Amino acid sequence: MTPENQPPILSAEFVSLPKAELHLHLEGSLQPRTVCALATKHGTPISTEEVTSRYAYVDFLGFIEAFKWVSSFLRGPEDYVLVLRDLGDQLLAQNVVYAEITLSVGVMLLRHQNVERNFEGLAAEAEAFAARGLEFNFIFDGVRQFGAEAAMKVVEAAETCASKLIVAFGIGGDELSVPAVEFREVYDRASAIGLHRLMHAGEIGGAKEIREAIAMLGVERIGHGIAAIHDPDLMALLAERRIPLEICPQSNVRTGALARQLGTSDAGIAQHPLPLLFRRGVPVVLSTDDPAMFHTSLIAEYENARQAGMQEAELAQIVKSGFKYSFKQRPT
Ligand SMILES: [Zn+2]
Repeated sequence: MTPENQPPILSAEFVSLPKAELHLHLEGSLQPRTVCALATKHGTPISTEEVTSRYAYVDFLGFIEAFKWVSSFLRGPEDYVLVLRDLGDQLLAQNVVYAEITLSVGVMLLRHQNVERNFEGLAAEAEAFAARGLEFNFIFDGVRQFGAEAAMKVVEAAETCASKLIVAFGIGGDELSVPAVEFREVYDRASAIGLHRLMHAGEIGGAKEIREAIAMLGVERIGHGIAAIHDPDLMALLAERRIPLEICPQSNVRTGALARQLGTSDAGIAQHPLPLLFRRGVPVVLSTDDPAMFHTSLIAEYENARQAGMQEAELAQIVKSGFKYSFKQRPT
């Protein structure tokens, strides 16, 4: 929030630009009031204070635990639809006209949910938002620590749903848990059924994790990827091959990923390497990751980027990149 008597961080003209958001987990968008409503619906009422305390973490694994906890309230199609509706309204209020929503299908399958039914509900809700000027597409996401067999089931679920709204397959979770090479067949299969490929890498892991995701799995976008700052040759490769990093500044601060990459005990937005990456020519897009869990919004992330040292004209280029690097078109 801008204090009184201070000029706004971003101009009104910039704020009004139509924007795209490409790294956004549905499960991480549950506002505390929505968590409370779902908990009551499922017969286990909780207070807003409890949600708030669960949404405060000191490290990455603490965040993963909270993510698991909050997604436990999503049990069927109506729950997913409620959350997408809430998220869509928040995105429209920020002039977001295109969003790729990451769905933790790995967690749905772990909980023996009917992925097709969940997705049917989401697809119908997405149609309703398209009529209001916000286009949704979806990324089916596996969980790295669940292993390759579970990830293959996520790709199979995407195939079964057979929807043009499912545009990509990705993997998130603990990038240090299972080596990239084990997912080679899974990514080959995703590509064979016409999905784009992406992966969380170089968030808490190193540049090596990013290199492997590109070389072994053929990914076209990297979730986070801030570890690239340690490897000038990798930054050059990302620039040359036009492989964008999906940068989520507040997430990196809140999970401790930024401090970890910088080798310090604590790090704030001002130290985020987004300006360095951008000025090295690495393609970047800006996102919230888990807006409710990180107490952020897309506009707040552009403000964060400004405070990290980006000029507004540079941010306008990043707005354009949000559309340019979207997965609207099928892979060629
Ligand atoms: Zn993420």
